[in-house]
Amino acid sequence: MDATNISASEQEKILGNLWKAAQGLGEGHVLPTVDQLNRARASLYNSLPEEGVGFHSVQRHILDDIVPAFNGASINPNYYGFVTGGVTPAALFADAVVSAYDQNVQVHQQNHSIVTDVEFKTLDLLLELLKLDLRLWLNGTFTTGATASNIIGLACGREFVIRKAAQREGSPIESAAAFGLHEVLQSIGVSSIQVLSTLPHSSLVKAAGVLGIGRMNVRDISTKANPLHIDLEKLQTELCKSDVVSIVAISCGEVNTGRFASASLDDLRKIRQLCDRHGAWLHVDGAFGIFGRLVGDDAEFMAIKEGCDGIELADSISGDAHKLLNVPYDCGFFFCRHACIASEVFQNANAAYLASVDGRDSFIPSPLNIGIEDSRRFRALPVYASLLAYGEVEYRNMLHRQIRLARMIYGWIFDHPGYTALPETTSREEMLDLTYMIVLFRAKNGDLNRALEAKINATSRMFVSGTTWAGAPACRIAISNWRVDEKRDLALVTEVLESALRSSGSA
Ligand SMILES: *Cc1c(COP(=O)(O)O)cnc(C)c1O
Repeated sequence: MDATNISASEQEKILGNLWKAAQGLGEGHVLPTVDQLNRARASLYNSLPEEGVGFHSVQRHILDDIVPAFNGASINPNYYGFVTGGVTPAALFADAVVSAYDQNVQVHQQNHSIVTDVEFKTLDLLLELLKLDLRLWLNGTFTTGATASNIIGLACGREFVIRKAAQREGSPIESAAAFGLHEVLQSIGVSSIQVLSTLPHSSLVKAAGVLGIGRMNVRDISTKANPLHIDLEKLQTELCKSDVVSIVAISCGEVNTGRFASASLDDLRKIRQLCDRHGAWLHVDGAFGIFGRLVGDDAEFMAIKEGCDGIELADSISGDAHKLLNVPYDCGFFFCRHACIASEVFQNANAAYLASVDGRDSFIPSPLNIGIEDSRRFRALPVYASLLAYGEVEYRNMLHRQIRLARMIYGWIFDHPGYTALPETTSREEMLDLTYMIVLFRAKNGDLNRALEAKINATSRMFVSGTTWAGAPACRIAISNWRVDEKRDLALVTEVLESALRSSGSA
């Protein structure tokens, strides 16, 4: 089989070529052309070849037919859709090592492999980067992304709030994971679990669906004036309901505007107190927002600092590494202040062979007993590599460049007669102060606005996500790539936005 006969020099060439191809894509398009897509689709095998076509044929097929139809989402610095991040060179290198050695990170077996130690250390490095106290955040794990982290967070929260309610009732049936959700709710006289939040990410609502909490039981607790801000009175009213138990979920970085649900340590202290009083769990969805904890102390970044302040008071936190940390898909993380609750939910029951082999080292938990998968990719290594290579300072500088570019674009849009900066406000200064790394806007001309996303993306020079804001279409620029360059990127973005206006005659 020629798949096994690849010479060392050829292997080197393959990796080198891939690296160059990835760099080249960065200079090139953000989206493939229709022709490239059609060609790639037509090239796909429709049936399994009875005899394999061989390594070289597959290599040619992938590089020549399929890769040209990829988008530049992670590689091109002017791809501003969703929040995608990129891949730092250190992370790319480490990810290649991960695939080559194919380590399964599942059980902590200290005499068999170093991988669980690396994962555990990497979680500590992340805590340090995010200014979370290692002595308080006793549990954590890598996940496939913030969606999985939100599922783990709500699962831990569900277990916790049920146990609190069972203790109040004096019921010995106190675990949904052990007894079943229906049985435990019935036995403690609780009719439902609810999740209280403001503008939660869709994945949080999905998590509620997956966990039997129910998407309908995710309730809005926002103020009248601002759909993202938490109304403490509403929160209190919900927490006081006697036959419902609650998980409170903070949107630390709302996906349309990039803004934060809370505005100070004081906000979080009050929320924490209410949660404690009523046996509620406090979860933070900080997929990309949590990296706001990296900003410097300058007045320039004060609103972001305050938006992330106090999340250390939560019970659990979700984060994404494949977004602002710029490591490859897929990689998220989850942190929890309670040492044991995740293992109560995710324990592999009756599988003695999966226990850690060395009792002395049991402070490193086996990942398969605190997270969703039993077999897992060694996705901590790219995070480890990238954190070491760039350190806190380079990550901070990168974030500052992203924030400054977002603010320069917002300023330009705010001053432009053809565009409206969103959410609408009369104060340019306030708008810029509140801006993290996302820009939300629309064209003033309604016809142009309906076509704006398509027009911008058709240039293939930059890519924006379309969304709706206050009932009308809007575009969203999310700046998350490590290759961000304020001057170069501002020039490109404003050129593309000017040309969109010109092409519609609205300039
Ligand atoms: C991206 C995102 C998620 C989902 O993360 P995935 O990495 O796509 O699983 C959850 N919450 C927020 C706020 C996000 O931005």
